[in-house]
Amino acid sequence: MKRLNGIRLQKGKRAQNKQITVLPLPKLIRIPMLMHMGEPCSVCVEPDEYVYVGQVIGKPESEDAVPIHASVSGTVSVISEYTMPDGQKIPCVEIVPDGLQVIHPDCTPPTINTRQDLADAAKNSGCVGLGGSGDLTYRKFARTEKMHTLVLNGAECELYLTSDLRQMLENAEEIISGAAMIQKIMKIKEVLIGVQSNQPAAIQVLTEAAEKQKGITVCPLPAVYPQGEKKVLVYHTTGLVVPENQEPEDIGVLVLNVSTCAFLYRYSQTGIPLIDRVVTVDGNAVPKACNLQVPIGTPIIDVLSYASCELDLVKQIYSGGGMMGVSYPAFRASVIKPQNGLIAMKNIVKPKEPTDCIRCGKCLRACPMNLIPTELDRAYQQRNVRMLTNLHAGLCMNCGCCSYVCPANRPLSETIKQAKALLTNA
Ligand code: SF4
Ligand code: SF4
Repeated sequence: MKRLNGIRLQKGKRAQNKQITVLPLPKLIRIPMLMHMGEPCSVCVEPDEYVYVGQVIGKPESEDAVPIHASVSGTVSVISEYTMPDGQKIPCVEIVPDGLQVIHPDCTPPTINTRQDLADAAKNSGCVGLGGSGDLTYRKFARTEKMHTLVLNGAECELYLTSDLRQMLENAEEIISGAAMIQKIMKIKEVLIGVQSNQPAAIQVLTEAAEKQKGITVCPLPAVYPQGEKKVLVYHTTGLVVPENQEPEDIGVLVLNVSTCAFLYRYSQTGIPLIDRVVTVDGNAVPKACNLQVPIGTPIIDVLSYASCELDLVKQIYSGGGMMGVSYPAFRASVIKPQNGLIAMKNIVKPKEPTDCIRCGKCLRACPMNLIPTELDRAYQQRNVRMLTNLHAGLCMNCGCCSYVCPANRPLSETIKQAKALLTNA
């Protein structure tokens, strides 16, 4: 099988040997009503109301949402407004924890015997893709097609991030049990777990945990970015190509992140919904990078303070990894469900002034999807929809490899993102 292209990133995972530490409860929790792809939930609690851990505080109003639960027990202080990174204003439930962590009586293990049960459980648990995507997990189970393969994504290829790695090292049994549960319910023949070959300890613990299970195999993957992109992951684990404008599920491959899989297993055993997650805290303003288990809605300033971040020196904060992470507006933001990383930097990385393309071909050799970024760039400058279509702009996953390697500092990935938007609206 031909290996897809990609790039080798500098070593940047300082937290990879740091065990997951539970963050002490903060003094205030701020839970925005939008933490997933899709529509916001509506607030269903009131100020001064006592709420329990796992109680629904945000109700979905459409199929494009899943419930949002209280991550702490305590009293709702106010329903405020939360500013999303894109400037959107969303209602936000603020809770003062009482420190008792009283669990709501409705939190009981669900009965999961059928595919519909699995979809319902994923929905009721408030599960979203924990690898950073924020996809609504229940939708994958609710599809009607037959799935022949489950691919678990343990290829945490981004700079800084180690939250999935720690899950694999510390919770391998849960990941394997979750995979076996989904395999059985969905009648899936084969489970493949993709892990980068430069993480031998994770490969070993998962392989050992999978020994007693039939049809679960750990697949070492090339240690290049972006192995974790689903089309690259599916190709390198199964050999199958996901066509343009299609998802892996369209060709019978169900893809789940390892942390999502572990969470679903825990939910099946306890009935406690998605109320916390593991966040990697790193960046040059954080002296000791770490992996923290954080209640959803914890203000990021509390997370950074716990990690001894030099708050006065912070100039920029990113949510997610170093390549595809998004700039976070302020310390007032909260940890949300898909947030796998919190990167605090003392410096603002300004894009360098682009110069003319010197036709070196580096962007072509870096692109995992075998696209021609230079030509896509040119086609977008000309707003040439036909050319963009012929060049398969829709296959671009905005991984940023082309921009990263370009000696002329051309913002290729950003341009192609705009080109895709042009195609969508054409
Ligand atoms: S951003 Fe798009 S064009 Fe650039 S390397 Fe990634 S997939 Fe290829
Ligand atoms: S990497 Fe930059 S300079 Fe080289 S061909 Fe691509 S766009 Fe041109």
